[in-house]
Amino acid sequence: MKFNKNLENIKTYETGKPIELVVREFGIEPKDIIKLASNENPYGTSPKAVAAVSDIVTKMALYPDDSMIKLKNGLSKRFDVENENIIIGSGSDQVIEFLIHAKASSSSKILMNSITFAMYEIYAKHVGANIIKTASQEHDLDEFYALYKEEKPEIIFICTPNNPTGDALDAQKIYDFLKKIDSDTLVVIDGAYMEYAIAKDSSKEIAVKKLIEEFDNVVYLGTFSKAYGLGGMRVGYGVADHNIIKELYKLRPPFNITTLSLEAASVALSDEEFVKKSVTLNLEQMKRYEQFAKEQKIDIINSYTNFITFCLNSNQDSTKISNSLLKKGMIVRDLSSYNMNAIRVTIGTEEQNSRFFELVKQFL
Ligand SMILES: *Cc1c(COP(=O)(O)O)cnc(C)c1O
Repeated sequence: MKFNKNLENIKTYETGKPIELVVREFGIEPKDIIKLASNENPYGTSPKAVAAVSDIVTKMALYPDDSMIKLKNGLSKRFDVENENIIIGSGSDQVIEFLIHAKASSSSKILMNSITFAMYEIYAKHVGANIIKTASQEHDLDEFYALYKEEKPEIIFICTPNNPTGDALDAQKIYDFLKKIDSDTLVVIDGAYMEYAIAKDSSKEIAVKKLIEEFDNVVYLGTFSKAYGLGGMRVGYGVADHNIIKELYKLRPPFNITTLSLEAASVALSDEEFVKKSVTLNLEQMKRYEQFAKEQKIDIINSYTNFITFCLNSNQDSTKISNSLLKKGMIVRDLSSYNMNAIRVTIGTEEQNSRFFELVKQFL
């Protein structure tokens, strides 16, 4: 059977290996498996969100509130914007999909960093768009600007902090860049790890209200999957000028967020204490990784997220090391598919990190 030609050169997105798979493949007990592969919150979820979801589990027969009023009210209060500036997606992944489908076609160009979140490229390929990548590994906005001038892309993706490298841009540099971009070019600022970045360095914080007031061609993306500890619930959001949101709504399937997910996200958003605790512990544990890397003489990228990227030297092989770790029940992310000899490790709890240090020393 022939399929859409655009699918021919799409590689299926590989998530961090699920625990269930490691149980089956290596016969390791689930309790002996530590997953530091998908940047999930190792401290779980806000207990208030868990309680709120348990209270409404019996409501499953009814369709969700498709106006998503509770969550939208929470987000509009958080960012001091209007509800009409917000769209909720099944993960911010889905908002990325809407954005690309809304703006790009096979004649479009989409500009992104050489190493960045893989879903931009996958959705770009859905519509057959041309992908333009920078040469530098970390976001270099001068290079972005030069490529923008040369290629005239329809969409520009800026991921700050960036996944899978962990580096982040100063917000002021982003504003200065945006001032030079024409208003028909859609610029997406993906802040999936922003809560972690702000805790480390407030100059990385994007002022979302100011951003969308000043620029009617810019979308800010956030997610509940990382610092909010709701990876399993699939909730993310986009904030932008209403004229953008209006178009995205044309692509949104009805009821794209479940009742339980909406409730969990609304309550998690209001539990600021949980997020604060998570980002504080993350920073503490990050210091241990930095110390470990120094002791082991491994290069790391200065991280503004809840993961650390180890750049290995030429006599260490990221695939071999991650496979050896896997056999011991330690799941990390091999970045060889990004053409990097590197592994990305989600910063876990104190105990999980100690185990990682102990194991990885044997394989380095
Ligand atoms: C995790 C992540 C997302 C979105 O995750 P969802 O679970 O789909 O909300 C978006 N961008 C980056 C860079 C991420 O790492």
